[in-house]
Amino acid sequence: MAASGTELIEIKGLHKSFGDNHVLRDIDFAVGEGEVVCLIGPSGSGKSTLLRCVNLLERPDGGAVIVRGENLADPDCHLDAARRHVGMVFQQFNLFPHLSVLENCTVAQKTVLGRKTAEADRIARANLERVGLTEKAAAYPAQISGGQQQRVAIARALSMDPMLMLFDEPTSALDPELVGDVLTVMRDLAEEGMTMLVVTHEMAFAREVADRVVFMDGGVVVEQGTPDNVIGNPRHERTRAFLRRVL
Ligand code: ADP
Ligand code: MG
Repeated sequence: MAASGTELIEIKGLHKSFGDNHVLRDIDFAVGEGEVVCLIGPSGSGKSTLLRCVNLLERPDGGAVIVRGENLADPDCHLDAARRHVGMVFQQFNLFPHLSVLENCTVAQKTVLGRKTAEADRIARANLERVGLTEKAAAYPAQISGGQQQRVAIARALSMDPMLMLFDEPTSALDPELVGDVLTVMRDLAEEGMTMLVVTHEMAFAREVADRVVFMDGGVVVEQGTPDNVIGNPRHERTRAFLRRVL
């Protein structure tokens, strides 16, 4: 969980607009190798857009997103290569409904990474075991709970050997009783040393698991620091106002 000192992602002076809506304004922060950074802030503050710039679902308009020394904002950057080792887990799990749990975890391994079926199956099963769903390999998404579907989405992302995992409100669409199992899987991943950038409203999770918390509002980073500082003892009134609403 502790940062090793090497930055895996550096975001410098990042800008993004949609038409005249200036959504990200000069964003700066870094995520070190093995670090867990939680991104918090009100709805509409630009958190999802920021994550989407990190895996190039959106092209930044200015600034740099440097992943392992390569600037993704550079028009010459090879998008597929850059994206291949970034896992993303969304609020809506986005599983393929017509594929089994196992197949959901193998299809991209085969099509993107070129793995043979036997190898892809072995890796998928190992990751399903990691998220506690070995016995659901043959089930279809509609046959399992939302929390189980989200854990499959995590296993699917892990099966691509990501160097970095992005989570965008992974528990927001879940019934409250299903949230805990997903957070437990994420906590385990953090403890295993996975580098993670997590957008979440789960303040208890952020407080316990994050090495650093970044608070965004209105497209800017208002403050960042340790969870004890940002959540426990925020310096800015905007942070305090947000925390009063969510805690
Ligand atoms: P958050 O995830 O913090 O709720 P978002 O990044 O989703 O915030 O949205 C920030 C702003 O960007 C909002 O005003 C939203 O309407 C706008 N926005 C996000 N995605 C798009 C898009 N693809 N096209 C146009 N506007 C967008
Ligand atoms: Mg969002």
